[in-house]
Amino acid sequence: MGRVEPIFIQNYTLTDLELWVEAIGERRFRARQVFRNIYGRHINDWGECSDLSKMFRLQLEHGTHLHALTLQEVREAADATRKYLFELSDGLRIESVLIPDPPRQTLCLSSQVGCALGCRFCLTGTMGLKRNLTAAEIVDQVCRVQEDLGAGRRITNLVFMGMGEPLANLDAVVRAIHILTDPLGLAFSHRRITLSTAGLVPQMSRLGSATPVNLAVSLHAAEDALRSELMPVNRTYPLEQLIRACREYPTPPRKRITFEYILLDGINDHPRQARELVKLLHSVRSKVNLIPFNPHEGSVFGRPSERAILAFQEVLHKAQMTVIIRESRGADIGAACGQLVAGSACA
Ligand code: SF4
Repeated sequence: MGRVEPIFIQNYTLTDLELWVEAIGERRFRARQVFRNIYGRHINDWGECSDLSKMFRLQLEHGTHLHALTLQEVREAADATRKYLFELSDGLRIESVLIPDPPRQTLCLSSQVGCALGCRFCLTGTMGLKRNLTAAEIVDQVCRVQEDLGAGRRITNLVFMGMGEPLANLDAVVRAIHILTDPLGLAFSHRRITLSTAGLVPQMSRLGSATPVNLAVSLHAAEDALRSELMPVNRTYPLEQLIRACREYPTPPRKRITFEYILLDGINDHPRQARELVKLLHSVRSKVNLIPFNPHEGSVFGRPSERAILAFQEVLHKAQMTVIIRESRGADIGAACGQLVAGSACA
């Protein structure tokens, strides 16, 4: 008989774990103890679980991988943003970015190695898709970063805006969200989790029925011709379909969908284009984040002048829209939106 490969235990929801412990001859309630040890006590070795029998600890040691990621490097920017480089079990690498904004500590998660969508302003677009991350590889980004922060600082918010298009890896992302929000696990509130999509329309409704997280949409243009040029996904799911899917998304009362709009000098930053944006979003409960582009080496785009940025914002203000200018963080360590190199940032 061949050797049974160890499982990555962070792929398992509590229900899966209950089935697994029963299958190896343990009592069902042991799954809760295991869950609490992994996510509540942040153990690094099954030997630390004094509440489990020695025999069970041995089974866990030989039958499971406790972590899916190896931390390779942490870099800290002048603004205290921290970029984490992780190696996966097959040697591929991903990055996560922690953005401190006390009392918030927001962790930007990757969902894929690379990305197939090829947005023109994003470094990952040049990389192509290497593979999807597993739920364990998503969950472990949170565990590893929390471990690095120690007991004094807790991650408060999660955003799926790192490397990859999360809706192109929906099953693993939803599974990871179930684990991250389990009260016996890391116990994140759904209200503190935001998923950003470039606009995979069919998966938006699947997400809405699977889990009540906040939705953000990377928009970047309010006209089809320009958006298709900047974001090829728009050729498959043009704006009319995208906005309809946003209207139908089950956004909780008093919540809004966030629309991300990277301002690119001379491309999408004209007041006329701001007026198009107002028209496009008039039927959606929305707020807009304007993100002045961070030029990176080899990029053909530039950052607009402060005057142009403020003039664009003013058009939206006058239309009573909720709009903020959000500067990318961590630019000096390549952690800003669209700058990650092992990965990228889905802006
Ligand atoms: S912006 Fe997001 S969806 Fe577009 S290529 Fe980059 S990672 Fe992919």
